[in-house]
Amino acid sequence: MDKTMCLLPGGYVDKDTVVHRDVELMPLSGREEEILADRREPASAALVTAILNRCVRRIGTISPISEEDARNLLVADRQYLLLKLREVTFGEQIFATIPCPWPDCGKSVDIDFSVNDIPVRESEDKGPIYKMTLSSEAAFLSDHGEVYHEITFRLPNGGDQEVVSPLISENEARALTMLFGRCIQDIGSLKNPGYELISKLSPVARMEIEKRMKEVAPKVELTMGASCPECGREFSVPFDLQEFFFGELRTSRDLLYREVHYLAYHYKWSEREIMEMPRAKRHKYIEVLADEIERLNNAS
Ligand SMILES: [Zn+2]
Repeated sequence: MDKTMCLLPGGYVDKDTVVHRDVELMPLSGREEEILADRREPASAALVTAILNRCVRRIGTISPISEEDARNLLVADRQYLLLKLREVTFGEQIFATIPCPWPDCGKSVDIDFSVNDIPVRESEDKGPIYKMTLSSEAAFLSDHGEVYHEITFRLPNGGDQEVVSPLISENEARALTMLFGRCIQDIGSLKNPGYELISKLSPVARMEIEKRMKEVAPKVELTMGASCPECGREFSVPFDLQEFFFGELRTSRDLLYREVHYLAYHYKWSEREIMEMPRAKRHKYIEVLADEIERLNNAS
């Protein structure tokens, strides 16, 4: 499959505050598979940035895009692009197996859905800066006794994920403070409040800010409802899209190079030409070639 076009549910706001939404996307080729091959650690936000940087050809009038552009895309826009990338690489249908979350069961449950059935919500206000007012209960009290209600923030992006994600498993509260420290621009007249001041926000204030951020952000709903055929109970679980997708792409380097060798040997194409082919196309040629060789062998 060749390139595909899609529309970001959020949008990329450049330094002149122009919102860019239409994206041109290329399927993964052998080059990206090579990056993902023999991967040991879980799929990180940095890996998503690297893959998007390579596969996104254009965002609005920005082309080519830089790694910084891929990093600065909103969290939901990155998820959406991964979904589309999965579709253009393997097709829209996803067959996955997840463990039943009930501790006394834990059996494997098959889930089957289309990429296009995943609810995607566009953001109405494209920001990139948002203002909100904290309730009186949540107001911020400075060291000098001033009371502030106004909060100015931007939405989390891939760069924030790269920094904050590794902290989540260690200390979720600290990770949220870190994220707020990056995203909150002002508390009242306090500009760029930073980690110190942010950590003084009350739990109610943190809740109100988090809620507001979720309300204005675009959203890709990756929580799946399923029922377990073993124990008969229903449940909903977050579907780890990047781990699943990058898992599907996990070829061993050895196999990848054997495929390249096979095509180069028979078709005399260069290594570069073969590696730049989308995976589906490479596999199709291998299939055609194998059939042809078998036919010749049977004829002789
Ligand atoms: Zn079960």
